[in-house]
Amino acid sequence: MSDRRIRKVVILGGGTAGWMTAAALAKVNSPPQFEVALIESDEIGIIGVGEATIPTIHWFNRLVGLDEGEFLRETKATFKLGIEFVGWNGEGSRYFHPFGRYGAPADAQMFFHRWIRAQLGGAPDSHTDFSLTTQAAMAGKFGPPATDPNSIFSTLGYAYHFDAGLYAAYLRRFAEARGVTRHEGKVEKVEQHPETGFITRLTTHRGEALEGDLFIDCSGLRGLLIEGTLKAGFEDWSHWLPCDRALAVPCERVADPIPYTRATAHAFGWQWRIPLQHRTGNGMVYSSHVTGDDEAASVLLANLDGKALADPRLIRFQTGRRKASWNKNVVAIGLSSGFLEPLESTSIHLIQSGIAKLLSLFPTRDCPEEAAAQFNRVYGADVESVRDFLVFHYSRTEGRTEPLWRQCQQMKVPEELASKEGHFTRTGRIVLSTDELFRESSWFAVMMGQGLRASDYNPLLDTMAAADNLAYLGQVRQQIAKAAATLPSHEEYLRRLTGS
Ligand SMILES: Cc1cc2nc3c(=O)[nH]c(=O)nc-3n(C[C@H](O)[C@H](O)[C@H](O)COP(=O)(O)OP(=O)(O)OC[C@H]3O[C@@H](n4cnc5c(N)ncnc54)[C@H](O)[C@@H]3O)c2cc1C
Repeated sequence: MSDRRIRKVVILGGGTAGWMTAAALAKVNSPPQFEVALIESDEIGIIGVGEATIPTIHWFNRLVGLDEGEFLRETKATFKLGIEFVGWNGEGSRYFHPFGRYGAPADAQMFFHRWIRAQLGGAPDSHTDFSLTTQAAMAGKFGPPATDPNSIFSTLGYAYHFDAGLYAAYLRRFAEARGVTRHEGKVEKVEQHPETGFITRLTTHRGEALEGDLFIDCSGLRGLLIEGTLKAGFEDWSHWLPCDRALAVPCERVADPIPYTRATAHAFGWQWRIPLQHRTGNGMVYSSHVTGDDEAASVLLANLDGKALADPRLIRFQTGRRKASWNKNVVAIGLSSGFLEPLESTSIHLIQSGIAKLLSLFPTRDCPEEAAAQFNRVYGADVESVRDFLVFHYSRTEGRTEPLWRQCQQMKVPEELASKEGHFTRTGRIVLSTDELFRESSWFAVMMGQGLRASDYNPLLDTMAAADNLAYLGQVRQQIAKAAATLPSHEEYLRRLTGS
């Protein structure tokens, strides 16, 4: 049995995906049973965007055992309570997608039904009054979720914004300190076993050769091994997610960082704003079919709130995914496995998802097809659920009239999504599969924000008088307002944790 064990893993690429994979492998491979080598090219560099995360980042940070204070200091990170969407349902519209849960701790899904019932009865309260996370974000405050499940503070949820370059460098130090070897050079030659087609060796422009049993392709959008060599094929999703370019530009920080990302819709796409400790990250995501790079750049630069610190950097991409992310002895993690688009900051989550599945299916040298098939099935389901969530944002934009948005409003959405929307409007229920990434609160926030409304609620609520339902909601609203008032400011909490 032991001679079938992996002896060496080679990671191609040193961006966020490469160093996250290296750090995770270094952590679980202790004491070392196999070698881990990472090769990256200074000449090619990394994509250098990807600065906003979602709460699943805590899984990864816990896995590798990162200290939160050190992580915040090293990556110039801030806390992220969610995303504010501006203009997505017409100029002047705005809504918040919080990471925490709605209602009181014990409410679970029933909160949505209570609120829908009250609304159908004419109650004026906004659902945002029932989200502690939203209330904290709007007041520029922050607090971590309480571990006591009965505390109103347990409904809070958060992630981070961080500097992508500093994060990769931080993970590099972590991985190298635990035995991962780094090699620099541009891979120009890829050799395969003549019978199995397995990749056996990568050789750089300087002639350095790296042999391995398992190759992790973290080479970015180009997918050098998974596509360049193994021709996995690409499933194009641009008919659902039409943006294909981004311009990224950092600007000076002009005020205390707010604890959330902002995504502002424009005629031809949308703009992100990500506050860090030392600067603000900005970018414009747009469709090259409806605007040119110069127009996109001038709208981006006109909408910065501080002085630009560089020229806007153009990134071209195609939305979609690799048909198989695990093929033979190559596993694609990160942009090499596909890219949806950054609207809900999900790429780093999908990197983690790939890492988690790789660890649980970690193969022997023969990389059995059943492991690859299972990886592709479960990873594929994760990507599809994220896709549907993103498509929902684009398709439900009735308040916008420009050609890009009109086209999105008319598209035929994926079947699962259409069924989810129908179910909600008829019954107030948000139907999810057990392992779907975005849960009820996320869907509810975005459904409300994008103007979807339910015409009924769970009939079991009729066991309670309508007035009692209203009284209960009133108490919860007060409890949340009181709790929000006790939280420290985001800046103060950040300083406390970083010791700055
Ligand atoms: C516009 C935009 C905004 C984004 N915003 C977010 C966000 O807010 N949140 C989020 O989670 N994600 C975001 N993402 C995605 C995120 O940037 C990526 O998931 C993340 O940076 C991982 O990239 P990567 O490591 O796969 O690729 P890259 O950073 O491109 O790294 C590729 C690596 O491969 C190496 N390489 C390539 N070819 C060779 C070769 N021939 N020889 C040697 N080395 C080679 C390169 O040197 C580099 O080290 C965004 C992406 C885009 C395009």
